[in-house]
Amino acid sequence: MMDTQLTLPFLLRRSESYFGDKEIVTRLPDRSFHRYTYRDAARRARALAVGLQGLGLERGDRVATLCWNHYQHHEAYLGIPSGGFVLHTLNLRLHPNDLAYIANHAEDKAVIVDRSLVPLLDTFLAQTSIEHVLVVEDSYEELVADSDAGAWVDPELNENEAAAMCYTSGTTGVPKGVLYSHRSTVLHTLGVAAGNPMGLGVSEQDVILPVVPMFHANAWGYPYLATMIGAKLVYPGPHLDPESLLEDFVEEGVTWTAGVPTIWLGILAMLDADPGRWDLSRMKGMLVGGSAAPRAMIAGFKQRHGLDVVHGWGMTETSPVASTAQLPGDLAAADEETQFDYVAMQGMPLSFVELRHRDDEGVILPWDGESMGELEIRGPWVAAGYYNTPEQADRWTDDGWFKTGDIVSMHPRGFIQIKDRSKDVIKSGGEWISSVELENALMAHPAIVEAAVIAVPDEKWDERPLAAVVLREGQTATADDLRAFLAPDFAKWWLPDRFEFISEIPKTSVGKFRKTELRDMFTTEAVVQP
Ligand code: AMP
Repeated sequence: MMDTQLTLPFLLRRSESYFGDKEIVTRLPDRSFHRYTYRDAARRARALAVGLQGLGLERGDRVATLCWNHYQHHEAYLGIPSGGFVLHTLNLRLHPNDLAYIANHAEDKAVIVDRSLVPLLDTFLAQTSIEHVLVVEDSYEELVADSDAGAWVDPELNENEAAAMCYTSGTTGVPKGVLYSHRSTVLHTLGVAAGNPMGLGVSEQDVILPVVPMFHANAWGYPYLATMIGAKLVYPGPHLDPESLLEDFVEEGVTWTAGVPTIWLGILAMLDADPGRWDLSRMKGMLVGGSAAPRAMIAGFKQRHGLDVVHGWGMTETSPVASTAQLPGDLAAADEETQFDYVAMQGMPLSFVELRHRDDEGVILPWDGESMGELEIRGPWVAAGYYNTPEQADRWTDDGWFKTGDIVSMHPRGFIQIKDRSKDVIKSGGEWISSVELENALMAHPAIVEAAVIAVPDEKWDERPLAAVVLREGQTATADDLRAFLAPDFAKWWLPDRFEFISEIPKTSVGKFRKTELRDMFTTEAVVQP
């Protein structure tokens, strides 16, 4: 068989040859829409590659981006790797000190930056070795306009060369870089395309809007997936509020979208407030991941608005998509409540991804839906190490699996159920309490917008759960009410001793609950019970 190298320039060739007229739409900062085609995008991506070569960049050099989701970022996703360079997406929500550390660690040589983010870049640029700054709609545009796409020569890359890199958004320790190869990126794209979660898989006829930021784990692969299958793409720019997104969905006829639960909770609240206002009849499915999708939210979308939530799990280290809600035929035919139970779990692995969970002694645990252990993963789009960080080598087992740090049980049907991050588990009297399950249950309470559960030290039990709760405007609930609400579904010792009512749950740069901050807030402060 031919030893065809699995590299990204292939996607440029395919998209312009077969889907050249298909559209890529971007909501610009001034809220107007920019439209062009895959043919235009391929030409400009090649021009970018030629322009970067013209600046003197060499094969393997890192080119950073500090951008929202838009067509220029899309060009960077394809053009930088196609020039033989490495796309390094910087997370614009990080602290400047972290950004300086990351840009230095990656040895970024150039950066493409949104005009609105130049002030952020200025806070750390001097601490880096970045030589070239390309401002979107300014010097970036000049570079692309002045470079001849026709001068692009396929660098005949080896599939194992790096295409992109991303640093993990961990809440503790220094950020760690993951390098994606051309091969891993191509296989991830194929793997996601082959997955057909809940029978709702995407094709050329879909209109895809990735809400997930392009600076977070490859935007879950959507720029590459849409380019490969020729689906119309819609990028929301910086407008990520529920109303703008709903407008985009309706105006552009979006059929598939993806993002973290916080975004969907906001959208659900807006739909509930004014059910007839938005025509989402074309929407086929919404992939929700990055944090646990609450069961009540999944049920709310389906029962009140006829919309399907597809739950997925992954990590920066796993490219990121590793598992999605694939309901086998008998479950797809099951009653709605049973289906919600399954979709609220984190799904089954994509093909070629393998999962297992082991206890503290390293014993592989059974798929009994109960035994909890750390999830381990292996597969062709799972990192084999962190970039230049040998001290983290113990995150891989001797037999080559990556230790995810997620504590899970495995349902007999092969579904993962995430119980906690290992650093977030609550150990009360030697037994585990799952913060995720308590949060999920609390978020089903009509007066609650968001809830996060953390461990607080306890003299007798070592640790006890504390629930931080955000109430809906104008609604009330007391600690006793909430305990009574949880009581039918949980063992008594699982019920949180303390409830704290706060105005907002602190979040990380990618919208996950920042539990370290909650622990700082509540392990020192006196108990406040209403
Ligand atoms: P990141 O690398 O920032 O994408 O974070 C990866 C981590 O997010 C995983 O290890 C999980 O702890 C968490 N995560 C991702 N998807 C889910 C999900 N569907 N449910 C629960 N946790 C999730």
